[in-house]
Amino acid sequence: MSLYDSIVYDRTLPIQSYWETTIPPLRFESLTRNQSCDVAIIGAGFTGLSAALHLARSGVEVAVLEAGVPGWGASGRNGGFCCIGATKLSNETLVRRFGLPQTQRFFQEQQQAIELVRRLAAEEQMEIDIQGDGCIQVAHHPSRWQALENEAEFLSAIPGYKCALWPAVELRDRGISHSAYGALHVSVGFGLNPAKYGRALALAAMRQGAKLYAHSPVQTWEKVGDQHVLHSPSSTVKARSIVVATNGYTEDSLHPNLRDRLLPVLSSIITTRPLTEAELAAQGWHCETPVWDTRNLLFYYRLLNDRRFLLGARGGTTGSLAERDRRLRQMRDRFAQIFPGWKDIEITHSWSGLAALSANLTPHINQFPDDSSVFYGLAYHGNGVAMGTWTGRTIAHLITGKTTIDRLCPIVTQPLKQFPLANLRLWYLRSSYLAYQVQDALPW
Ligand SMILES: Cc1cc2nc3c(=O)[nH]c(=O)nc-3n(C[C@H](O)[C@H](O)[C@H](O)COP(=O)(O)OP(=O)(O)OC[C@H]3O[C@@H](n4cnc5c(N)ncnc54)[C@H](O)[C@@H]3O)c2cc1C
Repeated sequence: MSLYDSIVYDRTLPIQSYWETTIPPLRFESLTRNQSCDVAIIGAGFTGLSAALHLARSGVEVAVLEAGVPGWGASGRNGGFCCIGATKLSNETLVRRFGLPQTQRFFQEQQQAIELVRRLAAEEQMEIDIQGDGCIQVAHHPSRWQALENEAEFLSAIPGYKCALWPAVELRDRGISHSAYGALHVSVGFGLNPAKYGRALALAAMRQGAKLYAHSPVQTWEKVGDQHVLHSPSSTVKARSIVVATNGYTEDSLHPNLRDRLLPVLSSIITTRPLTEAELAAQGWHCETPVWDTRNLLFYYRLLNDRRFLLGARGGTTGSLAERDRRLRQMRDRFAQIFPGWKDIEITHSWSGLAALSANLTPHINQFPDDSSVFYGLAYHGNGVAMGTWTGRTIAHLITGKTTIDRLCPIVTQPLKQFPLANLRLWYLRSSYLAYQVQDALPW
């Protein structure tokens, strides 16, 4: 049984995202006859597609099974922030648990992940609308300025990171005038069009020889001798190794080693119609760098290259249609509060999708403890554009022997723990959201 309303998982329904309108329709083959390959990948988002591309580049025979179409999951519908932030642990907690050198390494690898996306785009001639320069975090309340100063001090000590603090009076000159009380600019990150990136990754993987099968959900999975057999509705794929790349859409029934290990969370996005130059000037916005705020339940926003404005926020906790409508109304209200100059601007698209958290609140790259031929990469805590791409490549390197688990950063290789009382996962989420709402509203 799935955690959310069945419409969240229904691959026959339109996603209704703005991004979908920016890529031409393309038919992908389905799995219609039994196949064998070296590595079978479950899920064709950034993780699965990056693994497929890098494995195929190394001459490995790969088949990717996707229940929808490539990019159908979070990958094709996210905010397009190619940025840092793949954990929900604070910097202090990371340092306490893993030490400063490993924490700094984790941040350096997130920077390398971002550069990997930029490099892949150049190498594979991907037109993915890269925009902006770094990323910006804004204080949603004057009391959060101190948090930005702390973050600047922490990040500035990491090679490759440059930070600048912009007091509230500078925000208009910086082209990010809105309801905010100062900002931290970090030199690492950019925005992109995630649907174009997902499509381009899929085509690049296919060009390198990977086989991609759409509308081919893995319904059962058995091991026969040293071969895995994945059963899709009409055919099977046999492979020596498996990559699980299903993130927020992982069903507990896929494999006992994955049951109760993830907490999928809904995130929602709205986009406006294209804004005129006069409208942009009226609000005081011309910056294309991705922005998010200091709330626990943060808002994230960016100006897109066709001058639409995108605002994202946490989604609901049921996924029902009624909840979606309610959420849309709340997001419109918030949009008008944060950007009063645009309060009457038409919202043309709204949609949502599933990201994933783990019990450790860190991303995970590893092999099954009882079967080293199964690799998984998941739980990017709403930040998988760069990290999913990086994880896919890391898994390809593990499979081709270019690296080993003990050489990876220990922050990402911890065991994927079960949530205690996993049936109550959505209740944890609801109570955390309530607590965060209170914290975010407090003036300290
Ligand atoms: C609304 C939203 C906004 C976000 N914004 C950002 C952002 O701006 N920046 C950022 O870095 N991250 C963002 N994220 C998170 C990011 O999109 C994800 O972390 C990332 O896309 C995960 O990629 P993935 O390939 O691991 O999983 P997904 O892209 O979710 O792909 C998993 C795929 O597995 C398939 N699948 C599942 N089960 C099966 C099965 N049994 N058989 C076959 N296929 C199966 C699904 O159909 C799906 O296509 C956002 C997420 C959401 C939902």
